[in-house]
Amino acid sequence: METGLLFIVSGPSGSGKSTLCKDLVKLIPDIQFSVSYTTRLPRKDERPGEAYHFVSRETFTAMIDKGEFAEWAEIYGHLYGTPRSVIEQTLRKGNDLLFDIDGQGSRQLKKNYPRAITIFLIPPSLEELEKRLQKRETDSSAVIGERVAKAGAEIAQARGYAYIIINDIYAQALQALHSIVLAEKHRGERMKKHLTIFGKPR
Ligand code: ADP
Ligand code: 5GP
Repeated sequence: METGLLFIVSGPSGSGKSTLCKDLVKLIPDIQFSVSYTTRLPRKDERPGEAYHFVSRETFTAMIDKGEFAEWAEIYGHLYGTPRSVIEQTLRKGNDLLFDIDGQGSRQLKKNYPRAITIFLIPPSLEELEKRLQKRETDSSAVIGERVAKAGAEIAQARGYAYIIINDIYAQALQALHSIVLAEKHRGERMKKHLTIFGKPR
């Protein structure tokens, strides 16, 4: 039986992952977003169960002990993890799943699911990244400084990814992401099932 596709979007904080992922699922409604668990507090416009399931550190560590995460990581002092059950259920149904996770998580998932399609987002410059993080108004200037300082090293990891998108002009970045996902969904091996109605090959 055919399984679904896993699309992993990574990139430094502020590169546009969550904004692009949110818009992508509007364009391709049959792709499901993998809602991670986190111990960080919700931002002002985040509702529980949409971008994240917000839980206490105690609940999160109990979930680690029970092996409920396909991968997890500590990022900027908070825990983040991808629930294993959702991946298994979604793939079994043949549906596609979209992840917004960091580089460590991406490498871990790619190890366990080698067919996963990895996409890396980079900002046009570190200056622009800093401006976007300031404009987002979700982090203190100390936290922004830490995120920008880490971004260079994170971007150096982009070489191992199947696709790289520079998120300069937003509409173009969204178009690139949309095109990558559509192209992967239309690969010959995935479309074969649609050929059977035309009979056997001569
Ligand atoms: P991430 O999820 O990677 O941390 P976000 O999606 O939160 O990043 O984006 C960071 C900020 O930058 C948000 O305020 C978002 O609206 C803004 N942003 C994203 N892409 C662009 C772009 N191409 N041009 C200008 N601002 C952008
Ligand atoms: P934020 O707090 O800005 O939403 O996310 C911080 C970082 O955590 C981002 O790089 C995001 O991609 C990453 N992240 C979100 N969920 C997960 C997850 O389940 N696993 C891992 N490894 N990283 C995650």
